Amino acid sequence: MSAELLAKQQQYFRTGETTSVKFRLKQLKKLKEAIESYEEQIMETLYEELRKSPLEAYSMEIGFVYKEIRFMMKHLRKWTKPKRVKTPLTHLGAKSFLYPEPYGVSLIIAPWNYPFQLAIAPLVGAIAAGNCAIVKPSEYTPKMSALLKKIISKAFDEQYVAVVEGGVDVSTELLKLRFDHIFFTGSVPVGKIVMEAASRHLTPLTLELGGKSPAIVDETANLERAAKRLVWGKFANAGQTCIAPDYLLVHEAVKEQLLEKMKHYIREFYGEQPETSEHYAKIVSERHTKRLVSFLHQGTIVHGGRYEIEQRWIEPTIIAGVSWDDPIMQEEIFGPILPVFAFTSIDEVIASIHRYEKPLALYIFSENHRVQQHIIERVSFGGGCINDTLMHIATPYLPFGGVGQSGFGAYHGKASFDAFSHYKSVLKQTTALDLSIRYPNHPNALKWMKRLLK
Ligand code: NAD
Repeated sequence: MSAELLAKQQQYFRTGETTSVKFRLKQLKKLKEAIESYEEQIMETLYEELRKSPLEAYSMEIGFVYKEIRFMMKHLRKWTKPKRVKTPLTHLGAKSFLYPEPYGVSLIIAPWNYPFQLAIAPLVGAIAAGNCAIVKPSEYTPKMSALLKKIISKAFDEQYVAVVEGGVDVSTELLKLRFDHIFFTGSVPVGKIVMEAASRHLTPLTLELGGKSPAIVDETANLERAAKRLVWGKFANAGQTCIAPDYLLVHEAVKEQLLEKMKHYIREFYGEQPETSEHYAKIVSERHTKRLVSFLHQGTIVHGGRYEIEQRWIEPTIIAGVSWDDPIMQEEIFGPILPVFAFTSIDEVIASIHRYEKPLALYIFSENHRVQQHIIERVSFGGGCINDTLMHIATPYLPFGGVGQSGFGAYHGKASFDAFSHYKSVLKQTTALDLSIRYPNHPNALKWMKRLLK
């Protein structure tokens, strides 16, 4: 079934229809219109499955995608043009160009935490770059998966873009096929499975994975702002955000003050009873809730700690006194629990972060420019913010992606166009002249080469 669909898309791709700029612009517009016509249902589904508030649903999913589409449409003409680059003197008479071309048919595999945005934002890049695409949403948010299928089939013929629904079995079958590009967003262990599958056909691959992203607050930080932005970034979507601060490193001298302020903002944002808050999301499944609840027995609870497994609900929680060897520090938390560690020197901070694989994100709260620079220079991470959380993901001018185990390749804005394009390098030589020193019959060929290629 999937094989037939892929063959159909490959056949359609070969007609060349998807590559004209006019076509691409028209499809992006169609996609936007289809989303607009389902906007309310998208909001409702996000609320139903994850209890995402309308503010989060719009700003982090729907509006995010509109902005991405608008940005693509504005710049597409310029990006699709062949780009002239310099040519060295050794190539006298020639001109050099980069021609962006679509890969062909892309497979986009999406997770459940931002089930709309993480399926559609890559698709925007695929369409802008001139590809056909098959999108496989997550089985953990089945209503959104069905809605995505509805939206996509309203906008597009399946020979161009299609949604294939299902879980691991469907994903495994799709991964056996020979796509021209795979764009995967999800966990590190599944990323490894995807990469292994891609290697069988040497399929170009973008991996958007996760990891343990640290937040650092030093003694010079503006604690009010740090507390507010940390609470927002950690507890949005109940911590189920790939770039949420996973753990907090705070200078011993300001720890108590920061924690007091964070508790204040948790109450401000979600009330005294967050279980009734319209702004606080649920955990995606009972299984995921149980995994998170097991972390609550480690260290001592500074704030929160209540939960209701059947309701898939965990209170925004801060924990102190956790050891680096505790299970909570052995895997990505991906939920509303924030372990806090105190430090006394920045070198200690760097050593702590180096216990783990390169993180997807890193956040520094400090007014000390030297400290900011020192951390950026010494620690490798996908992307991040100084004195903020999450916001680097929401600008089309900053490519978003990981490094090392947090993934490779990047997208958003121009980077999305690039992620789904191959840049074909073309040298156009003149026939009006011919530099003879490269030929073996030139008497001083080697002498000239030695001069030119120093
Ligand atoms: P996941 O890896 O379990 O699943 C992602 C997708 O892969 C789903 O569509 C699923 O059906 C499929 N899948 C699962 N197991 C598979 C297998 N064995 N073979 C083939 N396909 C399989 O991830 P998740 O639980 O949906 O999402 C959470 C993870 O995703 C976290 O680690 C988070 O950090 C990461 N994430 C990363 C980003 C990013 O942009 N870098 C964004 C969101 C989430």
